[in-house]
Amino acid sequence: MLRLIENAKRFATKCAIVDQSDSYSFRDLLDRSEVIALHLLQGKEDLGQMRIAFMIAPGFDYVAVQWGIWRAGGIAVPLCVTYPLPSLQYVVEDTVAEMIICGPEYEDILSPFSMMPNIRFTRMSGLSKNESGNLPEIENQRGAMILYTSGTTSLPKGVLTTHANIEAQVSTLVDAWQWSSSDYTLSILPLHHVHGIINVNSCALWSGATVQFLPNFDAKKVFEIFMEGKVNVFMAVPTIYFKLIAYYENLSQTEQMKVTEKLKKFRLMVSGSAALPVSVMEKWHGISGHYLLERYGMTEIGMAISNPYEGTRRAGYIGMPLKGVEVRLCDEADRVIPSDQPGEIQVRGGNVFKEYWGKPEATAKAFTSDGWFKTGDIAVVEDGYFKILGRDSVDIIKSGGYKISALEIEEVLRKYPGVKDCGVIGIPDEEWGELVAAALVTEKNIDLSVLNAWIRERMPAYKTPRKYLLVKDLPRNAMGKVTKNELKKLF
Ligand code: ATP
Ligand code: MG
Repeated sequence: MLRLIENAKRFATKCAIVDQSDSYSFRDLLDRSEVIALHLLQGKEDLGQMRIAFMIAPGFDYVAVQWGIWRAGGIAVPLCVTYPLPSLQYVVEDTVAEMIICGPEYEDILSPFSMMPNIRFTRMSGLSKNESGNLPEIENQRGAMILYTSGTTSLPKGVLTTHANIEAQVSTLVDAWQWSSSDYTLSILPLHHVHGIINVNSCALWSGATVQFLPNFDAKKVFEIFMEGKVNVFMAVPTIYFKLIAYYENLSQTEQMKVTEKLKKFRLMVSGSAALPVSVMEKWHGISGHYLLERYGMTEIGMAISNPYEGTRRAGYIGMPLKGVEVRLCDEADRVIPSDQPGEIQVRGGNVFKEYWGKPEATAKAFTSDGWFKTGDIAVVEDGYFKILGRDSVDIIKSGGYKISALEIEEVLRKYPGVKDCGVIGIPDEEWGELVAAALVTEKNIDLSVLNAWIRERMPAYKTPRKYLLVKDLPRNAMGKVTKNELKKLF
């Protein structure tokens, strides 16, 4: 039994989705996903875990296709709508997708797949005919979805989650963040990553709340929608808050006051997917009256650690383990360490994925012998709050016997007048192992020797950058995360 579907039946007449073309009730969503499921089945009893990739613009059709695949027993593989062909090919080949469902906007880019003999190519327009039949019973230990990791540190990995995993991920957040049917959220994030697909869409629909879609992020449009006064829950990545702040700062004072008045009425605003700079948190608080709720999660585990819904949200910290998710900090030999020392976050619980698709060795390597998932992220606990020091592979710089957190140095550099953004990495060095290096995006010409003297007053010498590079922009992936391996190549 799929709980998302069962829940939707309870909210039948309520508005589930608002998109560019119309508004749709939960009944509409149930009906449409059933038509799609029956069409996909083509008389078969069950799709039997067939991988179905789909490229549909964010909106009613997207969700109806996703649910339709699930209801027919298939594994949903959402394709990123902005990927170039080679990245799409990678996903289609890696999942060995047997079918592709294509929205009208994407027929050109997907046309090479329409000629492939082993792929059933289905246009969205071909899914409208009513077919008769029964839908299979879906037990929740089955595979439900393959999402690809963001590819921040290496090639994206396909993460297979079961319906049970998804239900654990969603129900945990619904409780922790107090979602209810009176909520209304704006969905602006890509729908091939957990942030958009789980935290925003699935949590909202699970609770009977309404999801309004804005397919392409545009700060002006986001504020226009906010001004309509319906949205009360909003989730985004730090770079989006950064852009919203920049837009807001250019508004007239009267416009600013109006926006602030509306934002103050929101119930919840969340940030995640990458570290939220303290300066962004503070500025957004000044604008909206809200302390952004920062949380930590991954494609493999959904959300694991979150600042409290009620209680203090600490800038620069990700909060505490969510209810139902076990979290521990370990050393390199997977031994639990005292939490006031830095260690790897390891996670266990119903939320943890089943496997990396088609990569048994990677799956085996990702778990400890006693079944904990190794996140590769290093954290420390201070006053009960977890603080991310970075990814062991790229953010923890090993220099002269020290382990240095790139994130900590970035936080200090951002305070320097004129530094708009920065990315700190380690570059190979014969004597030290690695040297701290910083790429800076600046608003004006800055004198690097003055900056260097400034930072030396604020951090021990071994943590201060030995090399600086001025760049126009930092290399980022679709989730707005700085791709540090790309950044290293610039040095
Ligand atoms: P890949 O695994 O392909 O290198 P990725 O790890 O970026 O890409 P995701 O699963 O989308 O792919 O992202 C999870 C990672 O994002 C976490 O492991 C963590 O490093 C980072 N992250 C998520 N939330 C936060 C946060 N609040 N603060 C700092 N880092 C975060
Ligand atoms: Mg990862």
